[in-house]
Amino acid sequence: MKKTIKDYDIKGKKVIIRCDFNVPIEDGIIKDDNRIRQSLKTIRYARKEGAKVILLSHLGRIKTEEDKEKYTLKPVAEALSKLLRKKVKFINQTRGKEVEEAIKNMKEKDVILLENTRFEDLDKQKESKNDKRLGKYWASLGDIYINDAFGTIHRSHASNLGISKHLKSGVGFLVEKEIKELEKLTKNPKHPYTIILGGSKVSDKINLIKNLAKTADYILIGGGMAFTFLSAAGFNIGSSLCEKEEIPFCKELLDKYQDKIILPIDIITAKEIKNGVKTKERFVNEIEEDEIGLDIGKKTLEVFKQYIDDSKTIFWNGPMGYFEIKDFSKGTKGLCKIMSTAKAYKIIGGGDTARAVIEMGFAKDVNHISTGGGASLTFLEGVKLKALDIINEK
Ligand code: ADP
Ligand code: MG
Repeated sequence: MKKTIKDYDIKGKKVIIRCDFNVPIEDGIIKDDNRIRQSLKTIRYARKEGAKVILLSHLGRIKTEEDKEKYTLKPVAEALSKLLRKKVKFINQTRGKEVEEAIKNMKEKDVILLENTRFEDLDKQKESKNDKRLGKYWASLGDIYINDAFGTIHRSHASNLGISKHLKSGVGFLVEKEIKELEKLTKNPKHPYTIILGGSKVSDKINLIKNLAKTADYILIGGGMAFTFLSAAGFNIGSSLCEKEEIPFCKELLDKYQDKIILPIDIITAKEIKNGVKTKERFVNEIEEDEIGLDIGKKTLEVFKQYIDDSKTIFWNGPMGYFEIKDFSKGTKGLCKIMSTAKAYKIIGGGDTARAVIEMGFAKDVNHISTGGGASLTFLEGVKLKALDIINEK
C-alpha cells in the first residue's frame, strides 16, 4: 500500500494537493463538475486536520497565449468555493511573488488554488516535460505533497513526479480508491474472470490485451476492433474498420487463446456512418463489400450474456459499436443491460466507455467506473504508473 494523506501529521502544515480539475468548460461555465466533486474528500480531510491547503491542477492543453483565457482555473475556484462552503483563494499565477506571498499569509484550513499548471507549457513545455527546476520550485512552496490526480498519474509531469522527488509524498483518497479497485483485476481476481473489449482500434490496446489475456478466462471482443480479428479469422469484413498491420498479431492471439477469445457472430452494417441510414443485420459471413460493420448484433449479445452471467469478475473497456450514433448504440446499451443484472464484480475503464455507461444510465449497476481513461489502461497493461511509483509504500 502506498502512503496516503492519513499517514502524515498535517496540522498547520502546507499541504500541496495535486487534483484533477480537468473539467469541460464552455464560456466560463463548467459542464460537468464530477471531477471537482471527486476531489472533495481529500480536500475536506486536509482542512479538518488543520492543514493549509494549496491546490494544483492542469486543465486542457496549452499551446498558444489564447488558450490561456479558455483554460483558466478561475471557474473551478468558484465552483469549489461553493462545494466546500469556504472561499477558495484563486491566484492567477503558477509561480512568483504573488503566489509566495499568498502562501505565507495562509492560516490553518485556508485553501488556495494556483493557476493551470500547463500554463508553464508555453515555456518549453516545462510542466508536461517535467522540468526539474519547476518541480523543485513547486515543492519549495509546501511541506507535504499529496497526489490525488488519477487521470495523469501515468505521466511524468513537473506537478506530480517533479514535486514528489523533493517532498514527503502520499496519495489522496481518490487515487487510493482507484488503485484498490483496479488491483481487484490484477491481484488474484475471482474466476471466471471475463474481459470485454471494444472501441475503435486494436493497435491502441495491444499491450492491454497481451497482459490481460494471461489471467482472464474469457475475452469477449466487439466494437471496431472486432473486425481486424474477424479478418484474421478469415471472414470478409467489407468496408469495416480494419488495421491490416495488426492482422498477424490478431492471428497469433486467436491461435494461442482459441478457447478464450469470443468474437461476434452477427453485426449491424450500413453503407454510411450517419443517423437515419438504412441498417442491416448480418451474420459475420454475410458482410458485403460496400458494408461497414458498426455494431454487434442480438445473437452476439446472447452469446456474450452466457459468459457474463457465469463470471465472478468483469472488466469492460471499449464500446461495442459506433455508439455516438443512435442506430449503432444498441449493442453497447444491450451490453449495459446484461451487465446490470450480472452478479460479478464489475469494473469499467476507458474514457468513452465510461461516458457511454454513465449517459445510458447504468453507472449505478456497476461496482467501479475508473475516472482515468489512459491511467487505468496503463495500469492494466502492467506498466508502472510513473507518478505513483515514486511514492513510498507504508
Ligand atoms: P475508450 O475511450 O473507452 O478506451 P476507445 O477510444 O478505444 O474507447 O473507442 C471508442 C470509439 O470506438 C468510439 O468513438 C466509437 O465510435 C468507436 N467505435 C466502436 N465501434 C466501432 C466500429 N464498429 N467502427 C468504428 N468505430 C467504432
Ligand atoms: Mg477513447
